[in-house]
Amino acid sequence: MLSQVVELIEKKNRFAITSHIRPDGDSLGSSLGLYWLLRALEKDPEVIMRDPVPHAYQKLPGAEFVRVTPAVDQPYDAVFVIECSDIDRPGLVDLEKQLVVNIDHHSTTALFGTINWIDSTASAVGEMIYNLCKSIGVRPTREIAECVYTALVTDTGSFHYSNTSERTFKVASELVRAGVKPAKISQAVFSSYPWSKITLLSDVLATARRDESGRVAWLRQSLEMQERAGASDEDSDGFVNYPMSCGKVEAVAFLKETTPGVYRTSLRSKGDVNVARIAERFGGGGHRNAAGCTLHGGWDEAEGTIVQLLLDAVEQRGSLNGRGTKLDRPLVLEPITETVNVER
Ligand code: 5GP
Ligand code: MN
Repeated sequence: MLSQVVELIEKKNRFAITSHIRPDGDSLGSSLGLYWLLRALEKDPEVIMRDPVPHAYQKLPGAEFVRVTPAVDQPYDAVFVIECSDIDRPGLVDLEKQLVVNIDHHSTTALFGTINWIDSTASAVGEMIYNLCKSIGVRPTREIAECVYTALVTDTGSFHYSNTSERTFKVASELVRAGVKPAKISQAVFSSYPWSKITLLSDVLATARRDESGRVAWLRQSLEMQERAGASDEDSDGFVNYPMSCGKVEAVAFLKETTPGVYRTSLRSKGDVNVARIAERFGGGGHRNAAGCTLHGGWDEAEGTIVQLLLDAVEQRGSLNGRGTKLDRPLVLEPITETVNVER
């Protein structure tokens, strides 16, 4: 809990901070926010990640200090693990040998730390880092504020999603008072893409399909599309959201081929439709309305399996045996193999 985190920070000096593979706005914003908080306290922190900082976050204060490493290769007094469902999510060898502090806002996270501070009411871990700042008596510097604001604005989908609360706006307002320029952050995060993203998007959107009711949609990205566009891995970030902008659509699957026969899958939904439960079936996870997992097999088989589960979730039938929703593209539903997941 929070008081244990405060006590640890006060007592110790040398800290590492890490987060999940393929870090996003909350994981990087919160990690770097905590980094600057520890620096303000004249501690000795280091941010270590298995994967490099994506283009969208390279302007975050301190992004240039993030050390990319496959292992926790130095001794630390403690390692803060930000926004991870389990101890394997950071993808760092030897992490379990350290004193681990688990900081997360997912209610489903495993209590893998020596200290576990979980606050599922926080819209982003960034909000928790801001609370930590207050508890420990540090006034947010511009660096802390920019990092935490980035976490908030990305994890709430620019204050669109249901995790956006009165507290989110209150924290955001205090961050603006501490020096954040919202338009500058939004420009860096949402409007600095390379043209390859547009080229790739045009191919991916051409694959968009929906079921007869119009409530479930899906789209795919093949390795060939990525190569043709000269696109990087992160260029597809956010593609899953396009079909969600259609009023009728309640659930979307975006399957992205990462190696032949392996599909990194993003799921999104509206309202009560729970896609985290579907992702968990394949070893993934996330939130009710935004989750991810990895599927294996042929295109039609993987797509058919996930789409059927989305149809069931939308109709709240909760099983694979549902009938009655016709698709505008035939689905191959057999065999359904759950030889699935575990991304490393
Ligand atoms: P995205 O589709 O943007 O990759 O992920 C959406 C949400 O699901 C994020 O909150 C992310 O952390 C979570 N998520 C995505 N993939 C996985 C996974 O493989 N395991 C777990 N536990 N969570 C995931
Ligand atoms: Mn988050």
